[in-house]
Order: sequence, then C-alpha cells, then structure tokens
Amino acid sequence: MYNANHIPQHQSETSCDISLVVPCFNEEEALPFFYAEANKALAALYEAKKISSHEFIFVDDGSADGTVSVLRALRDKDASVRYVSFSRNFGKEAALYAGLSQSRGKFTATLDADLQDPPALLPEMLDALLSGEADCAATRRVNRKGEPPVRSFFARCFYRIMHVLTNIDIVGGARDFRLMTRRYTDAVLSLAERNRFSKGIFPWVGFRTKWFAFKNTERVAGKTKWSFTKLFAYSLDGIFGFSTKPLALASFAGIAAMALAFAGIVFIIVRKLLFGDEVAGWPSLVCIILFVGGVQLFTVGILGQYVAKIYTEVKGRPLFIVRETEESRESDT
Ligand code: UDP
Ligand code: MG
Repeated sequence: MYNANHIPQHQSETSCDISLVVPCFNEEEALPFFYAEANKALAALYEAKKISSHEFIFVDDGSADGTVSVLRALRDKDASVRYVSFSRNFGKEAALYAGLSQSRGKFTATLDADLQDPPALLPEMLDALLSGEADCAATRRVNRKGEPPVRSFFARCFYRIMHVLTNIDIVGGARDFRLMTRRYTDAVLSLAERNRFSKGIFPWVGFRTKWFAFKNTERVAGKTKWSFTKLFAYSLDGIFGFSTKPLALASFAGIAAMALAFAGIVFIIVRKLLFGDEVAGWPSLVCIILFVGGVQLFTVGILGQYVAKIYTEVKGRPLFIVRETEESRESDT
C-alpha cells in the first residue's frame, strides 16, 4: 500500500499508563512548583486506580539557566523522570515533538512548565479518554488574565484570519495543554513536517476532541518566552503552513488589474476620438506604475514565503539535536 511520510500503520508500543511531556526553556524557577503540582494530580489518579504507572518527559529546549541541573537532580531522586536536553534553543514546537516522540504512555499529556496549564485538570481529562468519549482532551482558557491587552487583541485577530484562510477551526484561547490516546499521539507524530504549527496540527489529525475550559492564571515563576515578534512569526507560520489561499490572491490581484487596465484603455480611446490628444496625466501614470509594481512585489513576496517553506522541508534537517538525555548521562558515568 502506498504510504506517504512513513505514517505508522500500527500503534507504537507503550510501557506506562501516562506520560507527561513538558517543554522547558529557562524554567529553573518554575520546575520545582510544577513537579510538586503534577505529582499531586498523579497521586489522585493512582488513588482512583486510573493509572498504575507514569513518566515525566521534560524537554530542555537549550535553556541558558540551570534547567538541566534541576532535571538531573529530579531524575536522581525519581526514576519516573526522563529528560531530553537540546543542543540549543529549537523552539517549543520542536520541544513538543521531541517529547511526544519519546513518550511511551498509553496516554500522553503535553503541558507547560509554568503551571499556566493546571495539572489538576488531568483526572477529569483522563476520564473523557477512558470512557472512550474522545481521543483527545483539549483545553482552552476562558480569560486572558496576566496578558497585555494588545496581545489578546492580536491573538483574536489572528484566530479570525486563520479561520477565513484555512478550513481549520482554531478554538479561541486553545492551549497546547492536551491529553491524548496512543493513536492520537502517533497520528500527531506522523506529521513530521519541519514547519510545525501545533495549533493547526491537532485539529488536522481529526478524531474526537473534548474541550475543557479553565481560567487563565499568571505564570508561577520566571517570565514569558514569547516576544511580540516571535508570536507574529509564529502566526505567519500557521497561515502559510495550513493554507494556500494567499497564493490565489496573486491571481485575483492580476485579474483586477487587467480589468482596470481594460477600462482605462477604452476610456482613453473614447476620449481621443471625442476630444483629440493632449499630453497630460503623467503624474497619474507614475502612480499607476508604482501601484502595480507594489502589487507585484507583494504577491511575489507571498510566493517567496511558500518557496522558503518548501526549502526548509526539502533540506530535511532534523527538528532538534539532542545534547543529553537521562539515558546518555547514566551510561556515561
Ligand atoms: N518554551 C520552550 N521553548 C521556547 C519557548 C517556550 O520550550 O522557545 C516552553 C516554556 O518553557 C513553557 C512553554 O513553552 O513551558 C510556554 O512558554 P511561555 O510560558 O513562555 O509562553 P506563554 O504561556 O507566555 O504563552
Ligand atoms: Mg506560560
């Protein structure tokens, strides 16, 4: 059978009940709080006999602070802690992919290290998967407390544009905090593209998703890693990664310009026949040339965005490079 992209045809093997995948970039201050809080949620799951084993997969995304040391120390006292440490900062998307590819749980959760994704929601989310009601329990925040209003405004605009341009519906306020079944995790992993945009990938893979709402809180420690420019670049990634509609814009602009030019030609001929010719109107000519030139550059630019994406895909570089894992460290010593 034809199998594009080596999509796994069977589910990968599992060796524990639940994996918690946590991307960490300069999170030395937040990690102890996260670890304590996550263990509380896990204890509740053990008590309710919903799980009998778990693992943590922390992905250190090339942190410059003591994040790796914190992870090593956690590993030394808790064998359920696993970690992957990148050779440099590859971004949250790469960190999520690395964590998911390491996960061996029947169920896999992805959540932030700063406790903005409350682990206390996990029991409720697991119930939805255990009952077979859904393959993915997803979360959305119902407010944006602790976020600058400008950022919330642009986030809302982006969701709207995304909805118009792609057929993918990104739920407003959707977080990357999810709990998914093995087959859902494998499906997400089978999308091995370099230009990753999880907010689009999750809805794209399909299956049934159940949404859980929660109130946003400010991060427990440390500060946000997202600057406005980073977020802007990320949203462009989302648009170009999931829609080819901007390409059609060039054709529409071309047709509109042609129609306008045609009307202009008719107008000039009629005027010449009726009133004769006089040399005038060169400023308007310059404006028209500039305008058409602008439209051309704009559309070529859009084309360039796709070419750039094709370029990065074709190079086929790895999504991340690992410097250390708990396994590599333990086999070295
Ligand atoms: N993160 C990451 N790599 C990055 C940026 C962020 O792994 O380049 C992680 C970060 O450690 C955190 C999560 O992604 O666990 C969300 O980041 P942050 O809290 O800064 O984003 P916000 O909540 O402000 O959207
Ligand atoms: Mg956060």
